[in-house]
Amino acid sequence: MRIVVSGGAGFLGSHICESLLDRGDEVVCLDDWSTSSPENLAHLAGHPGFTVVETDVSERVEVAGPVDAVAHFASPASPPDYHRRPLETLAVGSRGTENMLRLAQRTGARFVLASTSEIYGDPLVHPQTEEYWGNVNSIGPRSVYDEAKRYAEAVTAAYGRTLGTDVGILRIFNTYGPRMRARDGRVISSFVCQALNGDPLTCYGDGLQTRSFCYVDDLVRGIVAMIDSHEPGPVNLGNPGEFTMVELASLVIHLTGSPSTVEFHPLPTDDPTRRRPDITRATERLGWRPFIALEEGLRRTIAYFASRPDEVRAAASALVGGQ
Ligand code: UDP
Repeated sequence: MRIVVSGGAGFLGSHICESLLDRGDEVVCLDDWSTSSPENLAHLAGHPGFTVVETDVSERVEVAGPVDAVAHFASPASPPDYHRRPLETLAVGSRGTENMLRLAQRTGARFVLASTSEIYGDPLVHPQTEEYWGNVNSIGPRSVYDEAKRYAEAVTAAYGRTLGTDVGILRIFNTYGPRMRARDGRVISSFVCQALNGDPLTCYGDGLQTRSFCYVDDLVRGIVAMIDSHEPGPVNLGNPGEFTMVELASLVIHLTGSPSTVEFHPLPTDDPTRRRPDITRATERLGWRPFIALEEGLRRTIAYFASRPDEVRAAASALVGGQ
């Protein structure tokens, strides 16, 4: 297959490109480098099936030749990133999604949207099933991401309904692993870097809010299964293991053997209280489930960051304050 991946140089995107190339697909990666890095793709440089095009997909998407699948993964995804780039986040969720959908429509390709558990907002239903419509503050600081993704789902569903495009919507829950940036600002990369530096771990609020963390290799298997299917979704992808941030901090301190302590900071506005995917649909329709438990995934992630001490040290001062 020839597959176009927007955001292909980002954390998730680079793993997707790699996985598709490994199985023999041709991949065209579109990226504007705004929250990604060419370094994520360095090991794929020179691969005969791989092309990288620098472009902002909110402005234009021009890909010549046949396309079998389009995967739209371009967007800031870390809260500090989308707070810093609110208008760009809205643009890539709206105009960017439309541009990518047009490419899929024109070429007769399968289209897969990277949506998010954030569309559930601060959920009133737990665990979250795909039937739940969500609880989002449409004007709060997180809305630039949440509502952009909600619009992206709406326009994707409309293309499927009115134009017959072969669309699929994935709702991706918190994901972690190698190639997250040290200064990304999301909780696992922050806690791991802080622990490796011997700095206090910055726990927001009382640390009793929960998240469910999926290791990137598990997630990418689910994404590829979605690309290969004709499943319209939405389909939740995530690991149902649910942890408080205090539990996560203790586990990271334990696994790194760090002398770090935990320090409490104000909770960001509209920070969801709890989150856990119901993955029944992913299992039934895609034959997917995650295998890598948090402890094992953390060990691999810690090893990744431990091999980049300069980056980890440089990130230390940037990791307080969330938004
Ligand atoms: N969080 C934290 N310390 C940090 C970064 C995040 O306690 O240094 C908390 C954050 O408030 C949230 C949870 O960890 O409750 C997950 O945050 P993240 O930004 O990783 O993802 P999201 O909020 O998008 O689920």
